[in-house]
Amino acid sequence: MTVQFSNFIAGESVSASQATANINPSNTHDVIGEFASGTKTDVDAAVAAAKAAFPAWSRSNPQMRHDVLKKASDEVMARKEELGRILSREEGKTLAEGIGEATRAGQILAFFAGETLRLNGEVVNSIRPGVGIEVTREALGVIGMITPWNFPIAIPAWKLAPALAYGNTVVIKPAELVPHSAFMLVDILNRAGLPKGVLNLVMGKGSVVGQAILDHKDVTAISFTGSVGTGRRIAAACVTSSPMKKVQLEMGGKNPLVVLDDADLDVAVDCALNGAFFSTGQRCTASSRLIVTEGIHDKFVAALTARMQGLVVDDALKSGTQIGPVVDPGQLKVDEDYIAIGRAEGAKLHWGGERLNRENPGYYLQPALFTECTNQMRISREEIFGPVAGVIRVKNYDEALAVANDTDFGLSSGICTTSLKHATHYRRNSEAGMVMVNLPTAGVDYHVPFGGRKGSSYGPREQGAYAREFFTTVKTAYTFAG
Ligand code: NAD
Repeated sequence: MTVQFSNFIAGESVSASQATANINPSNTHDVIGEFASGTKTDVDAAVAAAKAAFPAWSRSNPQMRHDVLKKASDEVMARKEELGRILSREEGKTLAEGIGEATRAGQILAFFAGETLRLNGEVVNSIRPGVGIEVTREALGVIGMITPWNFPIAIPAWKLAPALAYGNTVVIKPAELVPHSAFMLVDILNRAGLPKGVLNLVMGKGSVVGQAILDHKDVTAISFTGSVGTGRRIAAACVTSSPMKKVQLEMGGKNPLVVLDDADLDVAVDCALNGAFFSTGQRCTASSRLIVTEGIHDKFVAALTARMQGLVVDDALKSGTQIGPVVDPGQLKVDEDYIAIGRAEGAKLHWGGERLNRENPGYYLQPALFTECTNQMRISREEIFGPVAGVIRVKNYDEALAVANDTDFGLSSGICTTSLKHATHYRRNSEAGMVMVNLPTAGVDYHVPFGGRKGSSYGPREQGAYAREFFTTVKTAYTFAG
């Protein structure tokens, strides 16, 4: 019998009249479970519970908040193999990647356990005699969280941990394709000792549950990660709602990896292979534009293609798999459509791009490499979000930098070079939130800020101590002591 998963509202499991089947993309015969499809009524109840829990939680002892987050971290770490398996089964990234992501969620929870004790303010001299000024940070209120499918546990963790650490209460809606990982995380946090109503989970459609969160007047702020199109709509809803909502958006990327003539070829190929194709290319930080100077171009393409030919594309849970399936038929169609668009635009499909059959039915796609791309082609400008990358040939470093920055996005950006001069210049002049030298554009630490520029991000950064910029509000208090 298929397992049923309910919403979690005001400390109770709340079943729904409708449910959505969660299907394993590596094996479409495998139904992971039936997950509640929430309604506006569920959101209203969840927001009411979060609002009621806010006064006590926001004034709670930081040691208590520390202990809850630390306990949750310990459980995530102790169960990382199990959580990694759950994640890989529903999302399709390899088991090693799934366990790595679960580990990261545990690390994030531990980091923000510590942050509860580090939240500080300032005492500033006034320009008026006898007046003292104190600048402090306070919790915001009820935070609505809307998350995407590609990091099913890490993204909920990196939003929930700071929100709870700084005393906010939460209603979270995970992506419809991957509710199981978020369900597990919410269960672990609640059992770690969160008071009733502090953390509520409402699963279901963006257009229903997400929209109801956006429309609710008692939701103070929205933290969103997902596509640019949805992000724009969310930002518009937040500024036109009454009262207006604080908003933080993390969105797509079209991340460049520059490879210069003086690069170590092995390093450059490793960076490109990992950055473009690992996690099936379904990362906002994926290197989808490989910008290569002409002296190394042919050697780089040949070496990268040889490595791509050896990649094992198979069931995410099978040992030896390096690239799992695409997440669902919708994303597979997008990937194949873009492969057709690239060919029609005049790029050369150098290798890959074929549908693959494996032991079980799944959404398997051979990683695809285009060459002879220009930076004006749609495949160079629009986020594909699959295992598809294009090589753009350039004359020299200056042209490489100009092409790298010529994009509507600005999340992550990389360069492979042995020149200190070019590495330093690139770090300073790349128009991206994160810059990598001789490292893949994807893959970041958990204790430092994460986010981008231009169309990739809107609002304060996520992660590390910088997360307090979004998850707290500043109060400036003046006191005349006589
Ligand atoms: P999406 O925009 O389709 O969905 C994201 C979330 O928004 C889902 O939970 C969805 O249900 C919800 N949603 C959809 N319509 C809504 C509406 N009208 N109102 C409220 N909520 C709504 O994105 P996706 O396909 O799940 O994720 C892929 C995208 O996420 C890619 O663009 C990727 O680059 C981006 N992403 C960005 C980062 C980052 O940190 N910058 C990280 C991971 C993924």
